[in-house]
Amino acid sequence: MSSLSGKKAVVIGAGMGGLAAAKALSGHFDRVTVLERDTLSSDAAPRPGTPQARHLHALLAGGLIALNELIPGIETELEQAGAVRIATGDVRMERPGFDPYPQRDLGLSWLSVSRPLLEFVSRQIAKRQKNIEFRGDCRVREILGLPDGSAVTGVRYETADGRVETLAADLVVDASGRGRLAFSAFESMGLPKPEETEIGIDIAYSTAVFERPDDAPSNWKVVMVLPSAPGDSRGGLLSPIENNRWIVSVGGNHGDAPPGDMEGFLAFVKTLRTSTIYDAIKDAKPTGPIIRYMLPCSSRRHFEKMQRFPRGLLPVGDAICRFNPVFGQGMSVAAQEAVILNRLLIAGAGQVDPLDGLASAFFAEIQAVLETPWGIAMSDFIYPQTRGQRPQDFERRLHFNIGLVRLGAQDPSIHKLMYEVNHLLKPQGALRAPEVAERVAKLMAAAPA
Ligand SMILES: Cc1cc2nc3c(=O)[nH]c(=O)nc-3n(C[C@H](O)[C@H](O)[C@H](O)COP(=O)(O)OP(=O)(O)OC[C@H]3O[C@@H](n4cnc5c(N)ncnc54)[C@H](O)[C@@H]3O)c2cc1C
Repeated sequence: MSSLSGKKAVVIGAGMGGLAAAKALSGHFDRVTVLERDTLSSDAAPRPGTPQARHLHALLAGGLIALNELIPGIETELEQAGAVRIATGDVRMERPGFDPYPQRDLGLSWLSVSRPLLEFVSRQIAKRQKNIEFRGDCRVREILGLPDGSAVTGVRYETADGRVETLAADLVVDASGRGRLAFSAFESMGLPKPEETEIGIDIAYSTAVFERPDDAPSNWKVVMVLPSAPGDSRGGLLSPIENNRWIVSVGGNHGDAPPGDMEGFLAFVKTLRTSTIYDAIKDAKPTGPIIRYMLPCSSRRHFEKMQRFPRGLLPVGDAICRFNPVFGQGMSVAAQEAVILNRLLIAGAGQVDPLDGLASAFFAEIQAVLETPWGIAMSDFIYPQTRGQRPQDFERRLHFNIGLVRLGAQDPSIHKLMYEVNHLLKPQGALRAPEVAERVAKLMAAAPA
């Protein structure tokens, strides 16, 4: 019998981080209760607690693999529900110097689906597990802890009719996105807050959904238009989602915000570096209004550096690290963190107290998961207005990347490696391997940027 038998876990938030964590915990704890402030509807609908869900949500290949490990069958059920399979050869990528970049089948694929449907299918599968209980309309007000800061003991939450309830738990997972509850708990227990690193980008996003026209181009399913940085930060992504629709998100950094009306949206799309997305949607029928979002920064909280951390508490997902959404990483990182949580609980199953040291082991292990997406997020320092600690070797990194992109255009194996890193299948360090670096250096020496 597991040494966690008889133990209870509470997960705050039923977003993708909370769902992945709940599935990871369900194999170890007797009972997992997911408390969500929103009503959890019986269909795939957006909800106020996740306003970002109305925007394009790419599920990277690395995220899909992690979700498959945690939620067996999800890939099949998503496809049955209408998710569209995307292979690398379906992606038209337009980047400065390459309009388009070679469009090749590299043997990698993933799914394109709306965030509400992804969340709904994940939740339906999780619900079939008898020891996971979802309680919607339950807003957690407080994480309860011992005054000496040694442990967390449960949560206090409020129901839709204003009742305040207390739920005791051996483990409380803060998957509330902002992580404010964990921070308030630190304060009430006299613990300091973790250090935080930020990359200030002030990204503004606008998204529209269209019916996919009958005469849609057949030589791509996805179009990605990258800006000519640092002079221009405007970029766009068009991707298919269930029910024969296209979702289109466009954005700019540092105050270059796309408008919130259809006319302004189309005018903004027209100013992208290429006209592919504009040409595709200019006569397409929108299925709803333009949705806007603004995110000041990517941020990473260094829980791993805290000297003292209460037993029985675990922040996950965005509560640890939020990324510039243009890289499409947050859900995949949350799923990869949950895979680590599951593995740590498996490894600790024979211990007298598997919760002892769980948080510090988790924070140590996830650093490898965070390193690549955070490294990618650092590319925002290409804009001089970006706030934060620009890496000292940033110019060298930029130069290397220019060479890498050129090499990838020539060599499918390098192109595949770039995809594998961007889809969180391989660490960013794989691109710096000596044999790759040598070839990049040679190319740049022969034809300097
Ligand atoms: C505009 C935008 C676009 C994005 N695009 C992508 C993308 O393409 N690909 C990708 O992988 N990621 C993307 N992300 C990031 C992604 O949304 C998150 O990283 C991902 O949802 C994981 O977050 P989470 O589960 O930690 O938090 P969330 O998804 O924000 O979920 C938090 C949950 O906690 C609930 N909650 C909050 N407070 C309480 C409380 N007190 N009590 C109970 N419940 C509470 C909320 O209602 C919500 O359901 C994007 C983000 C933004 C802003």
